[in-house]
Amino acid sequence: MIETALKISLKQHVGSPCKPIVSVGDLVKRGQLIAVPNGLGANIHASYSGKIADITNQYIEIVDYDVNEDLNNYVKLDSKLNHRELIEQAGIVGAGGAGFPTSIKFNVEFEPEDDGCVIVNAAECEPSLQHNIAFAIEDFDTIVRGLKYLMEITKAKKGFVASKHKYIKAFGIMKKRLAEEKDIELFDLSDMYPAGDERVIIREIKKVELQPGELPFKTKSIVTNLETVKNVTRAIEDLRPVFTKDVTIGGKVNDVEAQPGRVFFDVPIGTPASEMFEKVHGIMDNSGPIYVGGPFTGKIADQHTPITKTTGGFLVAMPFLSFTNEKFGIIGCECGAGLQELTELAAYLGGEVVGARNCKRMKPDATGRLRCTLPGICPGQAPTMLELKKLGATAILIGTCESRTNTVATAAPGMGLKLIHKTDFVLRATDHRLYRKIADK
Ligand code: SF4
Repeated sequence: MIETALKISLKQHVGSPCKPIVSVGDLVKRGQLIAVPNGLGANIHASYSGKIADITNQYIEIVDYDVNEDLNNYVKLDSKLNHRELIEQAGIVGAGGAGFPTSIKFNVEFEPEDDGCVIVNAAECEPSLQHNIAFAIEDFDTIVRGLKYLMEITKAKKGFVASKHKYIKAFGIMKKRLAEEKDIELFDLSDMYPAGDERVIIREIKKVELQPGELPFKTKSIVTNLETVKNVTRAIEDLRPVFTKDVTIGGKVNDVEAQPGRVFFDVPIGTPASEMFEKVHGIMDNSGPIYVGGPFTGKIADQHTPITKTTGGFLVAMPFLSFTNEKFGIIGCECGAGLQELTELAAYLGGEVVGARNCKRMKPDATGRLRCTLPGICPGQAPTMLELKKLGATAILIGTCESRTNTVATAAPGMGLKLIHKTDFVLRATDHRLYRKIADK
């Protein structure tokens, strides 16, 4: 059954786009290597068998593919490779959104005196996304085996799975399974955004506050996402390269049961958003923008946006309300929406930005990039809000961590300011609680 063209992005990781090693007209098999790193990056493999129709600087296009192709039929990795080499050849990158090549992250060996540890991030921090927790329920043993491989590769003595007890079923499964493991512990993270930030995870587990730019390795720890670990197990046990992604689809879609979010495992990379929406009977007529990723860090996309190795899902927001007479004061955040994104959102909403400030926790790191010094613990924003009000703001537009949202939400009414959070439109569409005051939980 021939579908539309499939676009496989050449940049599905941090670093520069990969270099294609196929030509237009070539016939490729699922799992075949089609692009290699050009500097920092990770291998890219064909996600379907088909014909190469086009190659640009951004993508490789495959046509004449069969959407019903058996997922178990793929070109396998070389069985003679060792575990570390398999991770590299499989093209595994951080599937939680970071896209950092996993083979580079795990190219370390701890010394015995280090008490090194590997931490699986199973926080599923972005509200409405559910595929990591769904996989933990489906097949947690795959994650335990993958974690053990990573501990073996790095000579880490200890493993952690960091999740939240609010995921009652998954947490119970993890607890029961990990009770059998003497070197792996389940850690209960606090239920706030961004609990899944790796500096927050290190702060909670290792009781060390990493400064902006400092890596978990400073605490002899490596943090990796749950789906990334799934891909490690598959590369080592099944010689399977990364050619699929787990995603959550939800929001204003016609299938009412899918609106809070429906999980799809193993979707071939390159599949466009439109095909995923077909599986939930399409998008409702009266709907807002499509977001690729979660409500906090997601970006506005369209029906043609293809799935990559880091795509969390596609969520359709409520239609944006019109704020034509509103004067917005915006406050940027590192872990949520930055100033540029908020400025664009203000334009979508029809309002005018009269003042822009960053959260006062944001300081430049060694490269000059503004980073949060203490993610998820807000210093309070009343003076910033007063400044914005003096500039003429009638409403505050934010997309910030839960702690800061709480402080802004508490102070805004007393100052006569409305509050709009970037996540409001997606959260309403997925029937999720809005981020406001703690008392509202
Ligand atoms: S403290 Fe400020 S910069 Fe840090 S996560 Fe919260 S809002 Fe963002």
